[in-house]
Amino acid sequence: MPQLAAILKDGWRGVARGALPSFTNVNNAAIVTGAPPEVTGLSGNFFLDPATGEEVMMNSSDFLRCDTILAEAARAGRKVAMVTAKEKLRDLLSPGLFDKGVTGMAFSAEKAAETREATHGIGDVEALAGDTPPIYSGEASVYVLRAGAALVEAGRADFLYLSLTDYIQHKYAPEEEGALEFYEAMDEQLGRLADLGCRLGITADHGMNAKCHADGTPRVIYVEDELREKFGDGHIVICPITDPYVVHHGALGSYVTVHLSETNRAEEIGEWLRGLDGVTEVLTKVDAAEALELPIDRIGDLIVMSAADTVLGRSPEYHDLSKLDRPLRSHGGRFETMVPFIFSSPLNAEYTAKAADDPRNFDVFDFVCNGF
Ligand SMILES: [Zn+2]
Repeated sequence: MPQLAAILKDGWRGVARGALPSFTNVNNAAIVTGAPPEVTGLSGNFFLDPATGEEVMMNSSDFLRCDTILAEAARAGRKVAMVTAKEKLRDLLSPGLFDKGVTGMAFSAEKAAETREATHGIGDVEALAGDTPPIYSGEASVYVLRAGAALVEAGRADFLYLSLTDYIQHKYAPEEEGALEFYEAMDEQLGRLADLGCRLGITADHGMNAKCHADGTPRVIYVEDELREKFGDGHIVICPITDPYVVHHGALGSYVTVHLSETNRAEEIGEWLRGLDGVTEVLTKVDAAEALELPIDRIGDLIVMSAADTVLGRSPEYHDLSKLDRPLRSHGGRFETMVPFIFSSPLNAEYTAKAADDPRNFDVFDFVCNGF
């Protein structure tokens, strides 16, 4: 990645800690608001609504509990563009961008062909960045960067959030051929953004680990089955990685939340879960909300996280693994929270000190705006 190498030479490189659970919606919401999940309200892609007992997908901005940096920048007169790979994030993160008197744009690579001036703030995405790519592709991510660079080039945006998708990272380990091509294409666009004079902050929503036995089969603990066998029926396991894009991971991640049929047994059941081989952390609701900065009304009675090589599931019938054509790689837990934190300029003294402490990926806008 020669372009990235050049950016690093004149810039700053470190690591930052992401928000838990280490999922897409959670961390993208945190990044565009500069706040942890307890403030954004986003605790996963899915949660069990205690009011209705229904499992609800959190892919609409109705679930976001605070304002975004993007909307505030647009109100301050910046030409804001948010480009995401997946359409699910666009609606979630775009409130305020189309308010009266504000001129923002927000669109996804997935639905590039459907962008309209009235609803997206832009109507000619395909003319700028090319034909809409398939969502299960590396091109879906490269497209986001290409669209962003084209908008800067044309003088149509000067404050951007470009959010990619992790399809390639789920499918290939970093040095595999399919990954290398992807990084090469990404590198070209990063170089383009740097050449345009953009102040770049580069980070990730989460990391990724191989989740397999030596023979390549997924290493899964089906938590709901385990609980049924030991403690009887009625316990519900929510896998907040679940989303409509299941080809990547079969809805298996390294974090689940458990709604117990008898909440007064949380300590006892938690202790038992802690003893399972491959489970690394179990927290009760109150402890999890406090220690992991989670919205307490959108998590279950227990939070369970697994080892770097293990994923947690509900029971086999909830997970369609037939579409996994390669060994499972996934994320969601503690072992996927440390991510790159890269800037195109050296940090000033104040932000060098911040970066040496416990920098968070969701402070990336703060670092770009104030840290150079
Ligand atoms: Zn993912």
